[in-house]
Amino acid sequence: MATNAPTASELQSSGFFNPIIDQCDGCDRVVEANNNKYCQTFAFPDAKWRLGICNFATHKKPEIVVSTIKVNPLKAAKRASGGKKKK
Ligand code: SF4
Repeated sequence: MATNAPTASELQSSGFFNPIIDQCDGCDRVVEANNNKYCQTFAFPDAKWRLGICNFATHKKPEIVVSTIKVNPLKAAKRASGGKKKK
């Protein structure tokens, strides 16, 4: 299978790619060259983790919290419309 992904030595020789950060350990996109590890996808891996989990990470997925609260649709609609206030 042909791939367009750059090799680790190409990433290193370009001088544009920064080494990975601790959070990247275990990701499948990490390539190693001369004891330095680089991300095949992003030049600045620290920027991908600045706001949370990297969206291209293969080793970590965001947790999705599912709430099981039952909502009565009639009451919810009444609440959303302001409801009828007693005087
Ligand atoms: S894809 Fe994201 S988690 Fe994986 S090595 Fe690159 S920056 Fe790190």
